[in-house]
Amino acid sequence: IAIELTKHSNLSTVDFNNIPFGRVFSDHMYLADFVNGEWINPRIIPFGPFTLHPANLALHYGQSIFEGMKASKQMDGRPVLLRPELHLDRLNASAVRMCMPEFPEDMFMDALNTLISIDKDWIPTVEGSALYIRPYMFATGEFIGVQASNTYRMVIFTGPVGPYYNKPVRLLAEEKYVRAAPGGVGEAKTCGNYAASLLPAKIAKEKGFDQVLWLDAYEFKYIQEVGTMNIFFVIGDKIITPATDGAILKGITRASIIELLKDEGYEVEERKISIDEVVEAFRNGTLKEAFGT
Ligand SMILES: *Cc1c(COP(=O)(O)O)cnc(C)c1O
Repeated sequence: IAIELTKHSNLSTVDFNNIPFGRVFSDHMYLADFVNGEWINPRIIPFGPFTLHPANLALHYGQSIFEGMKASKQMDGRPVLLRPELHLDRLNASAVRMCMPEFPEDMFMDALNTLISIDKDWIPTVEGSALYIRPYMFATGEFIGVQASNTYRMVIFTGPVGPYYNKPVRLLAEEKYVRAAPGGVGEAKTCGNYAASLLPAKIAKEKGFDQVLWLDAYEFKYIQEVGTMNIFFVIGDKIITPATDGAILKGITRASIIELLKDEGYEVEERKISIDEVVEAFRNGTLKEAFGT
């Protein structure tokens, strides 16, 4: 990795006790380009804009995928990442679905470790905060016409964040719009899924809710997830979460929470759960809790 360090760190301008989500960016970013069938020119440079061709394929046809992960500090101050290899697996699964090249594991780990160690002072230590890491890949082909690009860019930037939500979230079960159907791209962390969710989320907000609770695309009956997170229900002494069926984003926090809960001796069921089952459990008093991951 070629490294060019910034001459003007912005670190001193950040109030780590009051960090808005997604608006503060660390000093450096990682770039690599996919040209002639290989990933080349891995580099870390000062965080900042890059230029795009007006016919950039990603802007027109949506070949763009991303990940969201976090780094924090151990008690001894060493940076730690949460399950980065699972994030790369998912990035590469998204890449396959969107007809994009996979990114090699050795390059990914090298990129993360180098970038995080250069910007380690950006990792917040305030309770509930972390260094958010945004790896993403997009087409850089410069022509019009619906086809897969031959060239791509991989980018990783980071920024300190506080909690995404800092209060309980009110959800509206959506009965008109759908997020994803099996066979579609709901399992891919690809930009179009989020664009498609904005209008229903806006309508939900106007009705006094924070987010949409997505139901299945065939019957509007079975719960899928929330636009930004997977969902769990505590009913009686069981913890229930929708089984991933091709239309649900396979959250790494979801998988980790399931493992931790089972470890602690809780009974966790991954299965179809209908909105009616949740309403019924609420009415008969067995719904104890609902949470998102
Ligand atoms: C990213 C994302 C999640 C959560 O995934 P994690 O790996 O747990 O961060 C859940 N649902 C959707 C739609 C997402 O985009």
